[in-house]
Amino acid sequence: MLPSSPFKRFGDPLEDGLHNGGRRLTPQRRKILELFENIGSGMHLSAEDVHHQLLEANNRISLATIYRTLRLLVDMGFLHELELSEGGHRFELSSHEHPDHHHLVCVRCGRTEEFESDHVIQAGRIAAEKNGFKLLESTLNVRALCPMCQ
Ligand SMILES: [Zn+2]
Ligand SMILES: [Zn+2]
Repeated sequence: MLPSSPFKRFGDPLEDGLHNGGRRLTPQRRKILELFENIGSGMHLSAEDVHHQLLEANNRISLATIYRTLRLLVDMGFLHELELSEGGHRFELSSHEHPDHHHLVCVRCGRTEEFESDHVIQAGRIAAEKNGFKLLESTLNVRALCPMCQ
């Protein structure tokens, strides 16, 4: 089975997170988090995507505020951040439904596909054990070119 993930402690993030780390989930932060919850896990959004979706729903929040809020939600454990070297950053919900998944990322257009691999998790576990580390998470980001961008 998968090693336990730090994200499993979250029941309903909106309930549990009110005072997480002494920081409050303000209405604005909640709105951004709800956007991720509504589209469901397995979606990877950039700050620009979030900005665009909020504008469509008539929420005028500046891009700078969205960047700050996304970073904060990552710190609070609600979101998980993916670093794409050329396409910037993407954010996804920290989900207990699929805690240990990996990403195939197109470095040109940012298209992101998820995959699962017991080998990666196993490799992380072995490396951690060898060095006396306590494993929290093993994830792999694979940089690639999608069929459209090749
Ligand atoms: Zn993902
Ligand atoms: Zn592509």
